[in-house]
Amino acid sequence: MGRLCFDCPRRCGLDRGVAKGFCKEDDKIRIAKIIENFMWEEPCISGDKGALAIFFSGCNLRCEFCQNYQISHLGKGEKYTAEQFRNLLESFDISKYSSIDLITPSHFSTLLHEALADFKSPIPIVWNSSGYENSEMIKKLADFVDVFLPDFKYYDRELSHNLSKAKDYFEVASRAILTMREVMPENIFNDEVLAKGVLIRHLVLPGQTNDSKKILEFISENISQPFVSIMGQFTPMGGKLQSRLKPLEYKIVLAHAEKLGLTNGYFQELGSANECFVPDF
Ligand code: SF4
Repeated sequence: MGRLCFDCPRRCGLDRGVAKGFCKEDDKIRIAKIIENFMWEEPCISGDKGALAIFFSGCNLRCEFCQNYQISHLGKGEKYTAEQFRNLLESFDISKYSSIDLITPSHFSTLLHEALADFKSPIPIVWNSSGYENSEMIKKLADFVDVFLPDFKYYDRELSHNLSKAKDYFEVASRAILTMREVMPENIFNDEVLAKGVLIRHLVLPGQTNDSKKILEFISENISQPFVSIMGQFTPMGGKLQSRLKPLEYKIVLAHAEKLGLTNGYFQELGSANECFVPDF
C-alpha cells in the first residue's frame, strides 16, 4: 500500500495510487498549464518580468464560483513524478522571471516538498493557495516557499459550507495564515518584488460585505505587518452565485479596511469585473 493522504484538512486518508479523494488527484503532480511571464498577479508577485505561473490540476476546495473551473473541477493536465517536476522546473531559464508562482498547489504538498525541499531558487517561490491548509504542512513548506499568497475567503461557516463544502474553512484558514506569518515573520522586498513574506488575498463576494468585514477585522487584530490584496473582480461562473459584485459593496469593504488601518496592499479597479480577465484554459 502507498502513502495515505492527509495532505490537507479534508484528511481523506486514502492511498492516492488506488483511489481518489476530494481533490480528485492521484499520486502524481498534475499540471494543467504553465504560463511564462504571467503579469496578472499583484505587482509585487509579477514584478517587471512576470511570473513563471504553474497551474496545478484539481483542488481541495473546489469553490462554486471558481474562475479556473476547467482545471480545478474537470481534471486536465500532464502528470509528473516529484523528480520529473523538479527536472521540469530546472529546464526553465529562471532568470527570465520575477517569481515562480505555484497556483493551487495544496493537494500536491507532499510531492512538491519532495521535489523542492532543497531547491535553491534565485527568485521567490510563491505558494498561491486557497488558505485551506494544515498548519503542520505550512511549517514543512517553509523549507522551500519564500512567499505565501493565501486566499482568506470566508468567515461564516454556512457560507463556506454552501460554496466550498468546508464548514471549518475560517477555523482552518485562520490557523494556517497565522502559521504562515509565524514562519515568515517579515515582508522583505527586493526592488519591487516580495522576496519573503505573506500577502493575504480576499475576494469580496456579492451580498457578503459583512463576511468580508469580519475577515478584515481578524486580519487587523491578529496578523502582524498585514499586507493585503482586496479583490473586487468577482465574475459569475455559474453555480450558486449568479450576481455581480456591486461597486458600492466593494467600496464599503475598502472603507472598512481603511478604517481598520489595512492600507498596505492592493485593491482593484472594478472595471476588471469582466470575463475577459479570466484566464482561458
Ligand atoms: S490532498 Fe486530496 S486526497 Fe489528500 S486529504 Fe486533501 S482532498 Fe484528500
